[in-house]
Formats: sequence, structure tokens, C-alpha cells
Amino acid sequence: MALIVQKYGGTSVGSIERIQHVAAKVIKATENGDQLVVVVSAMSGETNRLITLANQIMDRPPARELDVLVSTGEQVTIALLSMAIQQAGHKARSYTGTQIKMLTDDAHGKARILDIDAEKITNDLNNGNIIVVAGFQGADEQGNITTLGRGGSDTSAVAIAAALKADECQIYTDVDGVYTTDPRVEPKARKLDKITFEEMLEMASLGSKILQIRSVEFAGKYNVPLRVLSSFEEGDGTLITLEDDQMESAVISGIAFNRDESQLTISGVPDQPGIASNLLGPISEANIEVDMIIQNVSEDGTTDFTFTVHRNDYDQALEIMNKTSEQVKAEKVTGRQDIVKISIVGVGMRSHAGIATTMFKALADEGINILLISTSEIKISVVVHEKYLELGVRTLHSAFGLEQQA
Ligand code: ADP
Ligand code: ASP
Ligand code: MG
Repeated sequence: MALIVQKYGGTSVGSIERIQHVAAKVIKATENGDQLVVVVSAMSGETNRLITLANQIMDRPPARELDVLVSTGEQVTIALLSMAIQQAGHKARSYTGTQIKMLTDDAHGKARILDIDAEKITNDLNNGNIIVVAGFQGADEQGNITTLGRGGSDTSAVAIAAALKADECQIYTDVDGVYTTDPRVEPKARKLDKITFEEMLEMASLGSKILQIRSVEFAGKYNVPLRVLSSFEEGDGTLITLEDDQMESAVISGIAFNRDESQLTISGVPDQPGIASNLLGPISEANIEVDMIIQNVSEDGTTDFTFTVHRNDYDQALEIMNKTSEQVKAEKVTGRQDIVKISIVGVGMRSHAGIATTMFKALADEGINILLISTSEIKISVVVHEKYLELGVRTLHSAFGLEQQA
């Protein structure tokens, strides 16, 4: 007997028929005696609909109230799925994040999971129930409802799997696994049978929305076997796993991209020790994550400083930088939101030279101008104008031969 955590995303529970289909799949999975915990997202489009409602009242709704609002989407799905399972003659119980004491910190909208009370779930499982849990949500120590960031149900599922020491965490979605890049952008993308935690983590953090980054972090940290599968087709999906000898030996395993980039530049900053921390301190205090940072070589005692943030944080970051600019007596602050980031990822890069050259040449041959570059041991990222996103991804996919069988 195994204990399996399954997660179904928005599209997979997007209508009553699909919820009934999920109920049938879940019930089938228990036929061999396995115990099942099912984590669900809101019905597709629902979270966006709720955010739009809030924005009709105000531009920047208070994060606490926004969490109360957006967490309702998942509460609808758990109730409906639990009903569908019971209607098919099986025992099921639904739980919100608060009910299973999914404790998080108080960073509304991007809360981190601290602890889960596994006892209730375990008791219910042992009484023959299928457990249906609302993804994406928890509560802080004061009992305020929190949410885990977009795509957060993946992380709820992995965290529950870790807490219960489940045998596998299965993420059911609208594609049949992890591909070399988003198959909606490059139809020639190839499904991977396996990918390492390290590569998946890099792909997720560079924008591949197939898994929320924290879910991969969690799975790697607690060694939760994680698999991405289709809700609609049979198949083995993609296993996210530790590195082993049988892994495909491709140098580049995938291309990730992020459309949600924006860039801020503060120019004419008096160049002196401490400027980076003076400029970025207030940004990080506002809980805004900074991604790429570039400080230009200083000329005549002043320098330019550029960094990128998520587009959602752009307005707030600009406001903060304008204030900082006055304080440090900089010349001006400029910014743009028409940029995207494309990255190539692969553990094989460690032992291969010339990857960056291949990348830059392939982009140049297509007339794609690179605005920013950043590298690490297993990835190279470039920021380009958003009009080049599709072309850039396809160009690199082909330049590294990803469409072919490795
Ligand atoms: P869910 O609602 O089930 O959580 P998501 O929309 O969050 O689904 O994630 C699935 C989507 O991720 C796919 O439809 C696909 O467009 C996108 N995606 C991005 N990168 C990849 C990739 N490398 N492999 C597969 N799908 C990807
Ligand atoms: N419903 C949330 C979202 O749309 C969480 C999730 O689907 O994972 O981001
Ligand atoms: Mg998702």
C-alpha cells in the first residue's frame, strides 16, 4: 500500500465534467489499496477573475484582504471534488489550508510554508477517506489567511507529501510532462522522461510555469519523488529526480523564459562604497525580489545601476527608486516593462566550453539584440525586447538541437 499525493491544476478542474473526471481518476488510484490525498487549484480563470474584482475597487488592494479573496477559488473546488467522489460512492473529506493547520509566515501573496499538522489527514486516511485539500493557501500564526504566490498549489502538494512522507507526489496538469521548453511556444519541444531537481529548479526559477519554484525546492530538500503528468492522457510523465548515470547526457536540457520582467536604471549615482546596498536596501525591505543587477564601470565619479524586478513590482520599485534617487543625489531614474528573459539550462554546461558563444551567435544571426546577460554554473540568461520572445526561444531550441532525441 502506498500513500500518494496528487495535485490537479486549474484546467484539470475547470468544469463540472472535469471535476467528475478527476474524481474518477482519484477513485481508480485507490483501487489497489493506495491512500490518496488530492490537492486542487481553483477552477481555471477563477484566481484571475477574483484579482480583477479587487482591482475594480482599488489599484493596490491590501495584501491581507486580497488573500482572503483569492483563497476562495480553491475552497469551491475542494467542496465540488469531494462531492463528486462521494456521489461515486466513495468516502471523501475536504479541507481548507486553515483546517489542516498549514502554517505559513505572514508574507501575504508570497507566503512560505512553515509547518503542517499531518495528524488530521492521517486519521482521516486511516478511516478510509480520500482527502481533498485546498492548494495555494495557509494561515499565519495570527490566523490570517495567506496565499503562496501564483502556481502555489504545486507547493502545497509537495509540502503535504513531505509532511506525510508520501511515496510520490504527482502533479497532474494540461501537458503530459516537462518539455525541453514550453510546447505552446515551440511545438517541436520534446518531452523529457527525467530531469534533475537542480535543472528543474533552475527552469522553474527562470520562468517555466509548469512547476512553482518552491515546490521543486521543497521536493529537493525533503527528497519527495515528484512526477508531472497529464490529467487527460495516460502516460508516465516526467520524473524529477536526483542526478544519475542514466540521465540524458545533453549539455542543455531546456530553455526557460519569463515574460514578467521589468527593468529599472538609476543613472548618475555618485560612486562610493555602499551604493549598491543604499539603492537596493529599500527595495528588499519592501519585499521586492531583485533578479539581475548590473553596475556600469564608473566614469567621472558617477555610475549607472540597472536591475530587474517582476513586472508586478515595477510601480512600487519605481516609486521607491525615485525617493532613493533624491536621497543619494542621482541624476535620474528610468525604467521599461517591454522586456523578457530567455535562459538556457543544463548541468552539462559545467563541463562544456563555448556554450555562451553558441547562444549569443544564434541570437545575433536572427538580429536579436541582447540587453542584459547573466550566467551561473548551469544557466545563461539574456534579457531581450519582448517582441523577440518566440523567435528567441525557437532559435535557441534549434541551435542546441533540443528537438532531436538526445
Ligand atoms: P496548472 O494549472 O495545471 O498548474 P500551469 O498552467 O501552471 O498548469 O502549468 C502548465 C503549463 O506550463 C503548460 O500548459 C505549458 O504551457 C507551461 N510550460 C512552461 N514551460 C513548460 C515546459 N518546459 N514543459 C511543459 N510545460 C511547460
Ligand atoms: N489558483 C492559484 C493560481 O492560479 C494557485 C494555483 O493554481 O496553483 O495561481
Ligand atoms: Mg500551475
